[in-house]
Amino acid sequence: TGLIEGIGPRYCPSIEDKVVRFAHKESHQLFLEPEGWHTTEVYVQGGNTSLPEDVQLAMLKSIPALREVEITRVGYAVEYDYVPPNQIRATLETKLIEGLFLAGQINGTSGYEEAAAQGIIAGINAALAVRGEKPLILRRDQAYIGVLIDDLVTKEIDEPYRLMTSRAEYRLLLRQDNADLRLSPLGYKVGLLDRARYEAVEKKRKAINEELERLEDTWLKPSENDRLSQWGLDPLEEGVNALQFLRRPETTYAMIEALVPSPQPLSPEAIQEVAVVAKYAGYIERQRREVERAKRLEERGIPDDFDYEAIVGMRKEAQEKLKRFRPATVGQASRIQGVNPADISVLLVYLGRH
Ligand SMILES: Cc1cc2nc3c(=O)[nH]c(=O)nc-3n(C[C@H](O)[C@H](O)[C@H](O)COP(=O)(O)OP(=O)(O)OC[C@H]3O[C@@H](n4cnc5c(N)ncnc54)[C@H](O)[C@@H]3O)c2cc1C
Repeated sequence: TGLIEGIGPRYCPSIEDKVVRFAHKESHQLFLEPEGWHTTEVYVQGGNTSLPEDVQLAMLKSIPALREVEITRVGYAVEYDYVPPNQIRATLETKLIEGLFLAGQINGTSGYEEAAAQGIIAGINAALAVRGEKPLILRRDQAYIGVLIDDLVTKEIDEPYRLMTSRAEYRLLLRQDNADLRLSPLGYKVGLLDRARYEAVEKKRKAINEELERLEDTWLKPSENDRLSQWGLDPLEEGVNALQFLRRPETTYAMIEALVPSPQPLSPEAIQEVAVVAKYAGYIERQRREVERAKRLEERGIPDDFDYEAIVGMRKEAQEKLKRFRPATVGQASRIQGVNPADISVLLVYLGRH
């Protein structure tokens, strides 16, 4: 209709958007989804639109199977506003109204998971604030939720934000298989995870660590070469510890179980974790070192009322951005668009002096 100004969610384009953005496609699929058992209404999935009513009807009728179609409810677009990133803290509390926590689309995101992820953090932090306790802020190396919220408070948003794995820089640490190990202690601490669940995860962690230690102390000798050749593996020329053996791309934990079984059998989840940690140890370690390096900036706090204009030698653009976003840490400051590493060096020197 020409009335829509906002940019729609990139991953759910309207049919009129698709025709323009994917002009090279010969067709676009529509899925006719019955709305229920006791209705003849059908939802036209893939055909969301805000075109004028008569155009919508003409478009549908142009499809042979829908020649006789009637529209019971026309498509329409909803434009909504959102709170700009510089007005929310990483706790999801608004800067303007103390005690007001926001989550979901109102913070500029689109998506079920995005809304739910913020919902749990906003809820946790609202409860912690009421109890007068320290807020919970997940770091970028701790959880995808950390990446999501950090992006929300440091990046200019010009279209509905969706979290994609590619937005996380520490993907080797943020694995599905270690989500319980990463986050259960926090869930338990804030009172959302019961003791039994927490202890089960700690038991798993202990079993994994003990098994990794055992593998490091367990030696495989060339006398095992017959078995290795049965599995099609190259023979050992000298002894190796079981952890080094497991690091080889062609070996599996099942082979370890056959050669040097653990006195206490591990759960399948713990076995998977042992295998992942063993095989990718070098890469995981490198990423951990990167996290440690970045942590110094993450932990360096900046007072809320910090006077950026007083910093001599910082570019005007950076000063303006920092003044607007008021990052809570130097780490957050470094991720604001328009703030470059040189600005951060100046900021660090200034913070060090004052
Ligand atoms: C057609 C469509 C398809 C989508 N498909 C997908 C998809 O496939 N996958 C996906 O991940 N996301 C999808 N999304 C996006 C996703 O649904 C939203 O981003 C997400 O649900 C937003 O959650 P929210 O909690 O922020 O807001 P909402 O779910 O909109 O919740 C806001 C709530 O506030 C209530 N409310 C408003 N005003 C007041 C008031 N004054 N007092 C009290 N209550 C009030 C509303 O009734 C509503 O229940 C889709 C969205 C649409 C519209």
